[in-house]
Amino acid sequence: MEKVDSTRKKNEKVAIFASFLQRLSERELPLVCYYATGQPFSETSGKKVQFGWSSFTNVVHQLTNRTNADLRGFYRENADFGSLIEFALVKRKPQPKALETYFGQADKTELTIEGINEYLTNIASYKGKGSLKAKKNQLLQLLRHSSPLEAKYIARIITSDTRTGFRGGLLLDAIASAFGRKNKTVRYAYMVLSDVGEVALVAKDHKIDLLAIKPRIFQPLRSMLATKAESIEDALNTYKNLICEPKIDGFRAQFHIGRKECRLYSRNLEDVTHAFPEILTSLPERLRKELAPSILDGEVVALVDGRPVFFQDLLTRIQRKRDIQISVESTPCYYYVFDILFHHDKSLLNSPLKARKALLQTLIPDLPHIIKMEYYVLEKDVDIQTQLQKAIQNGSEGLMLKDPTSNYQAGKRGKGWLKLKVTLPTLDLAIVGAEWGHGRRTGWLSNYHLAAKDRQEFEVIGKTFKGLTDTEFGQLTEQLQELEIAKEPYGISVQPKIVVEVEFDNIQESSKYPSGMALRFARIKRIRNDKNVDEVDTIETVRKLYQEQLQRQKRADKT
Ligand code: AMP
Repeated sequence: MEKVDSTRKKNEKVAIFASFLQRLSERELPLVCYYATGQPFSETSGKKVQFGWSSFTNVVHQLTNRTNADLRGFYRENADFGSLIEFALVKRKPQPKALETYFGQADKTELTIEGINEYLTNIASYKGKGSLKAKKNQLLQLLRHSSPLEAKYIARIITSDTRTGFRGGLLLDAIASAFGRKNKTVRYAYMVLSDVGEVALVAKDHKIDLLAIKPRIFQPLRSMLATKAESIEDALNTYKNLICEPKIDGFRAQFHIGRKECRLYSRNLEDVTHAFPEILTSLPERLRKELAPSILDGEVVALVDGRPVFFQDLLTRIQRKRDIQISVESTPCYYYVFDILFHHDKSLLNSPLKARKALLQTLIPDLPHIIKMEYYVLEKDVDIQTQLQKAIQNGSEGLMLKDPTSNYQAGKRGKGWLKLKVTLPTLDLAIVGAEWGHGRRTGWLSNYHLAAKDRQEFEVIGKTFKGLTDTEFGQLTEQLQELEIAKEPYGISVQPKIVVEVEFDNIQESSKYPSGMALRFARIKRIRNDKNVDEVDTIETVRKLYQEQLQRQKRADKT
């Protein structure tokens, strides 16, 4: 990775890594692919290492005899965990004699890829009481076997830091180059399998036709995403005719129907079956057996008096893991099916949407908690505005406009689907700092520093304490403290991990922030636990919105 990082040229990065991948055994290959993207395990495995700043630095302190203040200082200079650890190990102070005896001499046998995996698997396996101590101990042992340079990358993997300069796309190209495959076919395999390690293994096996790989039951695919339609005219000009559905504000979920059981997966590939028992039990056994194996795509929505309730309630259910029955009674959830991706061993990804919709109509009857999403096929001259108003009146966010001829592009924000909303645009931003509240908000971290992404960095473009409930302030305070990097005069700076969707009145020019822009009257619409920091909007998007706003103002001034 150090060699990959040493060049900025994409082709060189790919070539260096491809030749490394060729030398690996079948056991090492998938592991290296996860590590290269800054992940300890496959995203579909559901396994997590979970280390907060304080536990991690505690271990580094034990290893290096450096104080917390030293470590925070190093972090400020290096701005990532990996470099912090490398630096701290290089600058370690001798341990007191007693501690050296307690830890014993570090075993200097070479650290292998499989050896690292063993440690990480152990760390992820500890649960419940006493688990933190056991985890810290394993991490300590792992780092004691590592050189400072190895420790740098291990730390990045454990904290899922994506700064390795080798994100998914480039890695897929390296896999293609290593095993003489076309980039396009490797990307296709990744869309279907969602597991970069497995993709490397199948790419290596020349008996396998990558384009013939089918979705697999209980292995979630990445969801197809929609592009923002700038206007109704934009949507009409894009397609000849279109399938129009309400865009309901819920939680994206893939429904996998097996012969013996069903599972629901989030957009982040997380298994969320436990959270929605009313949806699972709504599918009668006989029908389940008839449908199996099938994969459906849809949106989970909580309805009260027939109207969708705030999306945050759904996320609370997923996190809570207990007392779900109470929520089932107060805010029952429904699965609105809008697509089918796999049925009876046949991949439907390359079938046109029109055909997938037709199949859905024949297969799925309306059930108490599973409902087929209503849709209309609109011709060019039909009034989308009327449909839009109707959807809004029924509590939807807007419309989804889909090309009937489009195939299912897993993981892509293609032109096949457009989303049309009437509300002002929102931005997904990362929280990078927080201030302690005053008055009613005393005791909470309640004024959040919101940042957009500028390449690998995060740039603050606004602050807000508006939009959250007291419970959410409480939850965020706990989460943010776990992510604390340093105490600041205003409060704390934190690792960018929490994503929030932010509404605002407009964007202003401002000398306060390096981007030269600031959000006016920002407020948090919701916490996006379903998104990760890779999905945060970029400074470029903010700039584009600003330009659009200027155009609108100019037009308004003229009229
Ligand atoms: P956004 O999160 O704003 O990018 O919008 C895309 C999301 O809208 C999808 O991931 C779904 O969760 C949601 N959605 C709501 N209704 C639909 C629909 N009819 N078709 C597809 N996605 C929908």
